[in-house]
Amino acid sequence: MGCLLDEYNMKINHDAHMHTFLSNCCHDEQHVPLNILKKASQMGIKKLCFTDHMWAKEIKLDDAWYANQDFNHVMQVKNMIPKDTFGVDVLIGCETEYLGDGLIGISQETASKFDFVLAPTNHDLTNYFQRKGIIESKEMAENLIQRFKEVLSFDVANGIAHPFLPLGYFERGDEILSYLSEEELNECFSMANEKKVSIELNTDTFASNWNRHTDHFTNEAFLRIFEIAKKAKCKFHFGSDAHSLEDMDLLPKMQRFVDWLKIEEDDINPLFRTP
Ligand SMILES: [Zn+2]
Ligand SMILES: [Zn+2]
Repeated sequence: MGCLLDEYNMKINHDAHMHTFLSNCCHDEQHVPLNILKKASQMGIKKLCFTDHMWAKEIKLDDAWYANQDFNHVMQVKNMIPKDTFGVDVLIGCETEYLGDGLIGISQETASKFDFVLAPTNHDLTNYFQRKGIIESKEMAENLIQRFKEVLSFDVANGIAHPFLPLGYFERGDEILSYLSEEELNECFSMANEKKVSIELNTDTFASNWNRHTDHFTNEAFLRIFEIAKKAKCKFHFGSDAHSLEDMDLLPKMQRFVDWLKIEEDDINPLFRTP
């Protein structure tokens, strides 16, 4: 007899954040839709969204890294998808960029051409903080809150990629995150809920997944944050953020956190629910 819980527990069966060899930071030539979908199917993934890094041409930016990673570039993935997707439903999305100070890498018009737009709020923290002379953890936390709201205000995102991850500052991750008050987080997540923007549970978020778990950066810090998101009735999506076939193995490792947070089918962004 099966355990009753099995019927109710949300099993990770979608991957909403997937890079391919089209992303400049992907160095695995085998990381292409055919191999990704084959592996995803074997892992029990029913829906998968390709989200390569994208900065739209219509938004002027002097940045060599993004120069070739525009709309047309990431859309090439469409032609790489095999006829037989091994039973996996495929969505075409992107992971755009936010550089702070109101500079976001996608227009509403371009955003509307994707099934799903992921917006990060924290890729360039190191450069930004250095430029602005921000060194205190408290100020960093304030910036993370501010960026989260700014990204939502542009109305281009359907999901927030790795929310509040203090990229570049893991050695004092817990300290930075401890400055995010329940009230501020609730405000951010309520705004996301209102705008129907889902919150990502990213393999990167949980320190243990990447062997980053130390006394200074723990899984618990993010469990507190996601608990507040759940209380604010936010919807969630899961993302491996895989840049290689090997990275895909990290996704099921989040299951214990999904169970701990009691995330159910109803808590999932409708786009990624499975019938
Ligand atoms: Zn990212
Ligand atoms: Zn990513």
